Amino acid sequence: MEAVFGGVEGGGTKFVCMVGTGPDRVVDETRFPTTTPDETLGRIVEFFRRPRTGIRLAAVGAASFGRIDLDRASPTYGYITTTPKPHWANTDVVGTLHDALGVPIGWDTDTNGAALGEHRWGAGVDADPLVYMTVGTGIGGGAIVNGHPLHGLLHPEMGHLLVPTFDGDTFSGVCPFHGRCLEGVASGPALQARTGRAAQELPPDDPVWDLEAQYLAFGLLCISEVISPQRIVMGGGVAGQAGLIGAVRRHLVRLNAGYIIRPALVEEEGCAFYLVPPGLGSKAGVMGALELARLELEREEDERCPA
Ligand code: ADP
Ligand code: ZN
Repeated sequence: MEAVFGGVEGGGTKFVCMVGTGPDRVVDETRFPTTTPDETLGRIVEFFRRPRTGIRLAAVGAASFGRIDLDRASPTYGYITTTPKPHWANTDVVGTLHDALGVPIGWDTDTNGAALGEHRWGAGVDADPLVYMTVGTGIGGGAIVNGHPLHGLLHPEMGHLLVPTFDGDTFSGVCPFHGRCLEGVASGPALQARTGRAAQELPPDDPVWDLEAQYLAFGLLCISEVISPQRIVMGGGVAGQAGLIGAVRRHLVRLNAGYIIRPALVEEEGCAFYLVPPGLGSKAGVMGALELARLELEREEDERCPA
């Protein structure tokens, strides 16, 4: 029997599930819309329980939207705790999957999962610390530090950095908590609220893209100053807009103003190796979830027979 892993990437609009061990070994894959927790978790369990000849599921990893509880000592470890997503507050993801599947369940944020995937197989293989930022329906960031996803008081919430005003911008922002945080002014829904058009329908020469690039560059400069990553991977639907990443690099170098003296932040050619698109494309999160499964299996094995 070949031992493989299960990976779940949980997003606010869709879930992606995979059976395999990484980009070179994908046994099966599915995706479905995020509905209620009961229905969605039921579909995940059904997918992983399907009989597959010669295959044994050794562990499952879940990388989820949040906020989530990562504190192993907490009674709500493995829960999605608070989220604006209707029905999903206080959802026990790890407990439900563990009870149904009987294998170790790895658990982290969607962006830490994507960071882990990119670190293991993608555009961040030789970079530590590595930051992964997604710019889509929300803005979020995860980080790998010393080979491990960064946890702490809670988990990084890079999308909620408060931002200054650029170009006399009067937009009040869409974040229900902060108004004008990075997510509030630069997410896909923020672009839509600003312009009245879906982000993918805005032409590349619309001036809003330069403003968008300034806000993203400001956020990435703060993250660069705090975490000092060796590379930042920027993914998500909005980040896929043609030309945006180049404009963000230009503003990043401009806003750094020569202070951090590294080619990554003083010249655009250097920045092209610093701020990069995902090597795994849209698969970063679910691939990272496979890696979360592997790490959790290792952790439980180490606990059983410490070296
Ligand atoms: P999610 O964040 O929900 O997981 P995505 O990362 O695909 O999903 O982000 C969805 C957001 O990205 C939407 O707000 C959408 O308008 C925007 N978007 C999708 N494609 C593009 C594009 N090519 N250019 C700009 N914005 C896009
Ligand atoms: Zn916010």
